[in-house]
Amino acid sequence: MNDETEFHTGYVAIVGRPNVGKSTLLNRLVGQKVSITSRKAQTTRHQIRGILTEGKQQFVFVDTPGFQSKHKNALNRIMNRSVVQSLQAVDVVFFVIEAGRWGEADKAILELLPENVPVILVINKVDKLEDKDVTLLPFMQILDKEGKFAGIVPLSAAKGQATDELLKLAGRFLPVGEPLYEADDVTDRSERFLAAEFLREKLFRRLGDELPYGITVEIEKFELDGSLRRIAAAIIVDKAPHKAMVIGKSGETLKSVATEARLDMEKLFGAKVFLEVWVKVKSGWADDERALKSLGYE
Ligand code: GDP
Ligand code: MG
Repeated sequence: MNDETEFHTGYVAIVGRPNVGKSTLLNRLVGQKVSITSRKAQTTRHQIRGILTEGKQQFVFVDTPGFQSKHKNALNRIMNRSVVQSLQAVDVVFFVIEAGRWGEADKAILELLPENVPVILVINKVDKLEDKDVTLLPFMQILDKEGKFAGIVPLSAAKGQATDELLKLAGRFLPVGEPLYEADDVTDRSERFLAAEFLREKLFRRLGDELPYGITVEIEKFELDGSLRRIAAAIIVDKAPHKAMVIGKSGETLKSVATEARLDMEKLFGAKVFLEVWVKVKSGWADDERALKSLGYE
């Protein structure tokens, strides 16, 4: 039995193919939006930690870019490397799949999972199952045979259903250790980083299918003026015609994207934000390792 007076701290990697809801789950678990989400693959490009401290337990969740092989450029090579790295030295893995779906992309990830770390299979999006009472149990029984899981938890990250059960189960695998973060920290990332991410999220959600893979955001200024944050951001596209798409008719797209991003920033920072945004063209940045480094992809 765990000694009630001892603190437990551990790392939990959240892995799975793109779009299964890893970032949504992370945000739900920490109770704040720290990792951006959208329907599109490649929304999550960086490893982001979300932190939850409850009583004598601290969970450090590591969100990962979804492993994928469709676009073979430098950005994707870096993202895939990052997934495999995130599995080293964690205490628990959440392997996330979608209810009713078990395909080649999921199997490929199962192959990469470490054998010496407990893996909890998270079946997300159960809210989407119409005949849940009939189909969920057989689905779980099939999956139980696919791998050696420390537990299987069906839940809905978006609706916040059964996420407590996941925490309860994961808590059993946290080793004894001092907290790594302050009790009220929710992420390891800076406000500057999160500002760029929130803007990128709005762009991913708003723009057409072919555009987002050649788009990124660079924060050029982040200043505190009392509690007011003065932020200047450049949206970087890799093809000149995309600039007009981002700006939109009479600047409408850019304006609404900036407003939505600013509201998210104000919510997370708990402070007013003055945000200036403009668009720049930098050809081929997603294919150039050096440009990637300068934009913070390591
Ligand atoms: P990731 O690529 O694995 O990080 O997936 P995201 O967290 O970005 O989510 C991908 C999409 O699935 C988004 O449109 C989410 O709103 C949606 N989603 C995530 N969790 C759930 C869920 O529990 N139920 C439903 N219906 N949709 C979800
Ligand atoms: Mg994600």
